[in-house]
Parts: sequence; C-alpha cells; structure tokens
Amino acid sequence: MVVVMDMQATEAQIQSVIGRLSEMGFDIHRSTGVTRTVIGAIGDKTGVDTRDFEVLPGVHEVVRITEPYKLASRTFKEEDTVVEAKGIQIGGKQLALIAGPCAVESRDQLMTIAEQVKEAGAHGLRGGAFKPRTSPYSFQGLGEEGLKYLREAGERFGLFVVTEVMDRAQIALISEYADVLQVGARNMQNYTLLTELGKQPKPVLLKRGMAATVEDWLMSAEYIMAGGNHQVILCERGIRTFERYTRNTLDISAIPVVHKLSHLPIIADPSHGTGIREKVLPMARAAVAAGADGLMVEVHHDPNHAKSDGAQSLVPEQFREMVREIRIIVQALGREV
Ligand code: PEP
Ligand code: MN
Repeated sequence: MVVVMDMQATEAQIQSVIGRLSEMGFDIHRSTGVTRTVIGAIGDKTGVDTRDFEVLPGVHEVVRITEPYKLASRTFKEEDTVVEAKGIQIGGKQLALIAGPCAVESRDQLMTIAEQVKEAGAHGLRGGAFKPRTSPYSFQGLGEEGLKYLREAGERFGLFVVTEVMDRAQIALISEYADVLQVGARNMQNYTLLTELGKQPKPVLLKRGMAATVEDWLMSAEYIMAGGNHQVILCERGIRTFERYTRNTLDISAIPVVHKLSHLPIIADPSHGTGIREKVLPMARAAVAAGADGLMVEVHHDPNHAKSDGAQSLVPEQFREMVREIRIIVQALGREV
C-alpha cells in the first residue's frame, strides 16, 4: 500500500501516518519527492481498510499496489531515479555509454580498448574480471589482476568502471576497484547475492535473466532496494526464445514497459542481445529510439583473438560510428550524449 500525502502536508501529519502504519506492522519506506511525500507500506496485510488512512489529515490518496514490487514501482516514486557513477548520471537527460571488452584479458588489451572507447565518447568502461562462462573449461577471467587493470584504465582515461560480481564473497574485493557492480543474467535470481548488494552503497547494474519476465526482473531489483540500496540500473540483454538466428532476442519493448512500471533507469546491451557484431548497431539505434537511458556494448580491438564473445564485439571504429549515429537519434529525442 502507498500513502500519497498532500502537497501541503505537515511533518507532524506525515509522522502520524507513519506511526499508524508502523503500529500495524508495516515496514515503512518514505520517499520525499520534489512536490510531495509518498509513504510506502510494505507487508502482507490483506485485511487493511484503505479508508482508515484516506480520512487522516494530510493524506491525498491511498493506493493499493497490485504489483508485488513496491520500492521499484512508479506508484511508490513518480520521478525518474537518476543513478550517478563518477559524476555521470544514468537515467537523466544524458544517455550513458558503457563500452569495453567482454573480459579483461591483459593490461595491454584493456588499455588499448579503454583509450579508444573514451576517444569515441564512452563514459563507462566495462570488462569482466570474473566471468560466468557456460563451460567450466572456458576462460574464467583474470580475477583480482583484472580488477587492478580496470581501475587503472578507469582512472587514466576518466571512465567509470563496471564489472560483474558473481558471488557475495566477491563484493568487498570488487567494490575496492569498481564504480558499478554488475549482476549478470545468470545471477539475476541469486537472492542471497542481491540481498548483500542491497546492504552496500555502490550502484548495481542488474541484467535481465534470460528467462525472466519483466515482473521477475523488477522483483530482483526489489531485493536490492529492500536492503536500502536504491541505486539500481536495469539492463535489457536479450531473452532466450525459439529464434536461432540471433543468440538472444533483445526485448526492445521491455524498455517502454519498464519505464511505465518503474522509476529505475534502464539501459540496453545489444551485444549479448544479438550475439552478432553486425546486428549490434541497428539494435543499439532501436534501443535508444525506444527510450533506453544508456547502452552497454562489447568492443575489442582484435575480436578474432578475443578470449570471449569476439563474434559480438564491435571493433573501435564501429563503436565510433555507433556513437555518431546515436548522437543524431538522441538529439531528435531532446536528450544528450
Ligand atoms: C557480460 O556482460 O559479459 C555478461 C556475461 O552478460 P550476461 O550476464 O548478460 O550474459
Ligand atoms: Mn560477454
């Protein structure tokens, strides 16, 4: 249940509503917006009569939320959430561009790619140090050595660093080096990991699970937010369908759907979303046109020798072209990049 207060509601009236809700056993999440305060009451109290709250002084309206997620819902918070990473805003007017290799392979490889994506206009550097590979025999990542290269490249080229955390035991270590912690598609429903990420302050980039509905995905965001961390960025990276011409099916329609249901920013990953280099640019254009708040793309200077996901990695030149085209689209939308 959400209690929306009057614009003129006094602090005493707000506290009185909070007190009543707490007495009834609800968990309270207060959101103080620009124009009014909204109180989210979380708990399964099906017998509550909303009119008991509607009559209280200072209450504008009471909304029963049918969606199972609350903190992530737009009913709870009307204004868009803007997540900040090293001074770059994700979810505001500006479009955020995150680029880099699938995996950090060596210091040289990362520096070469970071320099080129920065030059092309990227704001964030991606790269896996711990890789969730389908096969246990594939390259698993450089671990902490990779994290060090990421930090160094991020600082040298002025890029915020995004890297994946696969297990809650890695959170402390990865937090020392990364600005944004990525939860991969395979871990979207790793609830113990999500719960731990809710208790720490770094922004979390939550990828959509390959068989997850939008509701499943928002419930996973809710796990992080319930712990107190509201800095969540959603990332559409394609879902598994019966189609085999592409690695996954990038669900562009999820972008406006999420924007309607949730205040959280949503970006798109057309690299994993298609799995094929030549399909990345058209899908990047489509995602931005559909309202994505940013893009995350894989870029490699020598993709034929990449240790993972070479086939879907753009070469730096293609990334430059992508940024050029995206600039035209965002202008038409009244945004910036
Ligand atoms: C990645 O970003 O490299 C990755 C493994 O992505 P996903 O979890 O979407 O497969
Ligand atoms: Mn990858």
